[in-house]
Amino acid sequence: MVDHRRRKLFIALWEDVKEANTITIKETLSAGKTLSPFEKFARYHEREAELEELAETAEEMKNRVADKLLGGQVIHTDKRALLLKALEKDPELQERVIFSVPEMKESCTRCDACAFLCPADAIIMDGDSYILSTEKCISCGLCGEICYEKHISLKPVKATFLQDKYVYLLK
Ligand code: SF4
Ligand code: SF4
Repeated sequence: MVDHRRRKLFIALWEDVKEANTITIKETLSAGKTLSPFEKFARYHEREAELEELAETAEEMKNRVADKLLGGQVIHTDKRALLLKALEKDPELQERVIFSVPEMKESCTRCDACAFLCPADAIIMDGDSYILSTEKCISCGLCGEICYEKHISLKPVKATFLQDKYVYLLK
């Protein structure tokens, strides 16, 4: 069952971030007049500071979403790493323990929303590719909820699947 209120919250916040980004880009482009090297240098640092500020705002926004959705619950992202370490010692158990991990479809439009909003930073962007950090993912399913077209969803896998710390979701 999809919770549409949660999705709306995600989408509204995501639109804010995109809007802020667009404004920054437009401002940069509109400053198309010829600048002296010193002016260019100063402009570069000015923009760099703005982008850093934007990244901080985005990070804050992401934490707010995670807090709201997870009810302030603390996320122990190293719990799975500890569990995987314990499983490493028992190949038989690896066959029996089932985890849920995200699976991306080729139809993904690469909007980055799931990677941006993952509360555990488990989805890593690498150019046009997405990589899952199997240690970090907490199987919360939020990535599937934010993707409007359902290009990503959780699938059950045996613990053996998680032997690799990083797995390509989409190349
Ligand atoms: S899976 Fe969905 S939310 Fe994630 S990048 Fe692709 S289209 Fe965007
Ligand atoms: S299920 Fe999705 S949103 Fe949740 S931690 Fe894993 S990758 Fe991130």
